[in-house]
Amino acid sequence: MTDCKKRQTMAKQPEPDDWRRQGQETYLKGITLFHKSYHSQGKEWDHDHCEFCGEKFSETGDGLKDGYATADNYHWICNACFNDFKEEFGWK
Ligand SMILES: [Zn+2]
Repeated sequence: MTDCKKRQTMAKQPEPDDWRRQGQETYLKGITLFHKSYHSQGKEWDHDHCEFCGEKFSETGDGLKDGYATADNYHWICNACFNDFKEEFGWK
């Protein structure tokens, strides 16, 4: 990666060893995310978790009601993590 140096000089980026990092860059980097209300993927699956911090999304009860998701609603990212990682991951 040639942008490592630039990344280090930018403030407010999560640390390289941020606890939320779990290799998400392999499948979430540079993808398109959509801000939307949470919708579960099917009848047998009523919630999801943020790809980074694990915060729960759910349509009912306690849980986040909106966030950022891939077009297929497969991956969900909460608003806070989106803001923290959006520059590094190139989300729009
Ligand atoms: Zn999160």
